[in-house]
Amino acid sequence: MVEKLNSLTSLKSLISISGQKLLLPLYHTVSNTHLPHISNLYPIRNVALFTQDLEFFCKHYTPISLYELQQYNLHNNRFSKPVFHLTFDDGLSELYHIVAPILLAKGIPATFFINSGFIDNQDLFYRYKVSLIIEKVKHVAIDFALINKKIDVSITSSPMLIQQLKAYNYNHIAQIDAIGAILEIDFDSYLTNVKPYLTSTEIQQLLVRGFTIGAHSVSHPHYKDISIDARKQQTTECINILNEKFSVKSNSFAFPFSDEDVPKSFFQWLYHTQHCATSFGISGLKHDVFINHLHRIPMEKSLHSAEKIIKNEYWYYLAKFFLLKNNIRRND
Ligand SMILES: [Zn+2]
Repeated sequence: MVEKLNSLTSLKSLISISGQKLLLPLYHTVSNTHLPHISNLYPIRNVALFTQDLEFFCKHYTPISLYELQQYNLHNNRFSKPVFHLTFDDGLSELYHIVAPILLAKGIPATFFINSGFIDNQDLFYRYKVSLIIEKVKHVAIDFALINKKIDVSITSSPMLIQQLKAYNYNHIAQIDAIGAILEIDFDSYLTNVKPYLTSTEIQQLLVRGFTIGAHSVSHPHYKDISIDARKQQTTECINILNEKFSVKSNSFAFPFSDEDVPKSFFQWLYHTQHCATSFGISGLKHDVFINHLHRIPMEKSLHSAEKIIKNEYWYYLAKFFLLKNNIRRND
């Protein structure tokens, strides 16, 4: 149904009918090579597909910087023409080596949201550990008895183990590390040899080239899984480190994973105590109770073209519009 509607309707009409002229695509990385720390979590777009996405965005929207986005938004101005701002989360090394050169050649600004705890490959995001373990589980025979004994589970097959690994959250890092150790996966060696993250020098270079940097927490917990104090500590420390290391007056923050279950009081603290001007979620074309909180469209749920993803997002918006469900509610 949506396929048929998509082929019959131009994006221009969808933008016009919905009135939604601001597009905030969210990516993590772009690579033509296999990235075992990510490939078991979500599909990775290659250079050709990413370039095609950019051509689509530039054809229908004007690229703007974070500063321009904030100027419009903070003054509650409506965009006179369709605009987009690109964002990339998690501070991965391909941003410097692959993404930035493509964007510079096309004159497209972008903001990179960085986890301070991962800069210079100091530590590995627990989900990347999960992906590396799954990579090994797919290829070797596993001693389930040893895993069951060590972490008190009842796993009898590789699919069960993979399911368990995918269900783990920030509070299960000890279990993830224990399984990694049983499978003889050396996460520290992976960090040293593969270097999945940006270095301080690369971040400095990205700033020199005009890209903007924002905060994305220290070690990427889902904020719904941690205490109020831990959320504040993760946020403050990241903002402070970006300021100390790169003189980034980090006035933008992207919630790690999502802002699910984050109450209004946290947003008020973020804007008033931390002086954050803009925060970002991942709910697509949605309006938040806070005008400073903008929602992005995740582009890596599939390898579909940007045209298909964005048009579907507009159809979803229009469908929800009639049900009055485009406004996000938050608890105090
Ligand atoms: Zn992230």
